Amino acid sequence: MPVTIRSTRAHTDNADTGIRLLEAFFRGAAPDGGLYLPENLPRLSDEVWDSRGVRPDFARLAGNVLEQLFPEDAPTGGWHSLAQRAFPFGPVLRPAGRHLLLELYHGPTCAFKDFGARFLAQVLESELERRGGSLTILTATSGDTGSAVGSAFHGLRNIDVVILYPKGRISKLQQKQLTTLGGNVSAVEVDGAFDDCQSMVKDMFADTQLSAELRLSSANSINLGRLIPQSLYYIWAAAALRADVQASAATTGVEGSRRADYVGAVPYFTVPSGNFGNLTAGVLAFQSGMPASGFLAATNLNDVVPHYLRTGHYAPRESTATISNAMDVGTPSNFERLHAMFSGDYRRMGALIRGEAIDEDTTRLNIKRYYEEYGLLVCPHTAVGLAAADRLGTGEYDGGSVSVVLATAHPGKFSDVVEEATGRQPDIPERLQEALDKPGHAVPMPADSRKLREWLATAGESRAGR
Ligand SMILES: *Cc1c(COP(=O)(O)O)cnc(C)c1O
Repeated sequence: MPVTIRSTRAHTDNADTGIRLLEAFFRGAAPDGGLYLPENLPRLSDEVWDSRGVRPDFARLAGNVLEQLFPEDAPTGGWHSLAQRAFPFGPVLRPAGRHLLLELYHGPTCAFKDFGARFLAQVLESELERRGGSLTILTATSGDTGSAVGSAFHGLRNIDVVILYPKGRISKLQQKQLTTLGGNVSAVEVDGAFDDCQSMVKDMFADTQLSAELRLSSANSINLGRLIPQSLYYIWAAAALRADVQASAATTGVEGSRRADYVGAVPYFTVPSGNFGNLTAGVLAFQSGMPASGFLAATNLNDVVPHYLRTGHYAPRESTATISNAMDVGTPSNFERLHAMFSGDYRRMGALIRGEAIDEDTTRLNIKRYYEEYGLLVCPHTAVGLAAADRLGTGEYDGGSVSVVLATAHPGKFSDVVEEATGRQPDIPERLQEALDKPGHAVPMPADSRKLREWLATAGESRAGR
């Protein structure tokens, strides 16, 4: 039986039969305002965890896992070929003090969002090739999401992308990443705030005629097509740990060497969180049978979820600005998913997930400390994760657990903060430097939905004639 996808707001007792996986990717949000979640996920077979002493190749493992979870929902060409196209990069696991860092920033825009955006782009494109037709992805960004989406969809034949960003309110690097792509990716610079960009996007989707003509679609983080691929690197990490254990047993043959200490050990994941998509993806992986002893939701001052885990009281509020700004979220969009996955019971959620909030000074201190003690440069989001894991004392190979902290962005993306804390300027990866050196192009736009509608309609015609 294929996996059924159902909205968090669907009542299983009415006749809601749910939809299929790829349909959920095209729809984004559910029509009832809820978020899609897979039901009856199958359990992954033992073979996934047995890598015979070699850390698995990420794209191969991804193809395998998708094939096992969604055998009846594969896009044209199959999951293996899709994974090869989506993931020409992968995660890296390396020691950081008492922890292992799971580095997720080796993709094109140097943050973990590349995994989700590239997977979604490749699935949508391959489906459009088969069905015919085209799409326009319209999205507003306050920085990082837009660049991952723009880069992931850049150069596709059947999908255009329009990204709105607030003038003067994103970093220079982010602006370059958005405006230097060109081709099928248009950057629109709005004379207003991020909220203006968002409400303009909403107005376009509410205009049913325009929305139908342009086949508007969104690629934001609530799309299940961005969540599913994020489960894959948790599974990879668990398999890689198992492989390390097998390798050390094979070479030393001795119990008690440092590596062999974690024979049978399972990961305890610490996840720097904002909208909680990443954490939700980890819990999905756990539901499909990935061994894990638990999760730590690490936040900055925006501590709505840690507060909920402590008290059972969910109190969303305006976000507070911090140096780990990709996690400045006061109303985490994926909370509705987490809530549904634990049947609204905070004690059940708390049995698997702990929460910890980290203040600004502690974040800075940890950027400095990890540099001075271990020679590691980490971005402020990753530092929040390390600080939370240290505070709760996860780490070492204790209690059968190995502490794995997700490193969500390359330190070079946040070089000002990192340099201020450590006195050392992080290297800027070549692919970011290239964008910085190119001239950018953006369409100037007042914060006025009518003007955006006019521009979209004419730009849409010229695209149709291309
Ligand atoms: C988006 C982002 C986060 C937060 O991830 P969520 O899935 O929204 O919880 C953390 N760190 C970085 C660098 C990000 O870009």
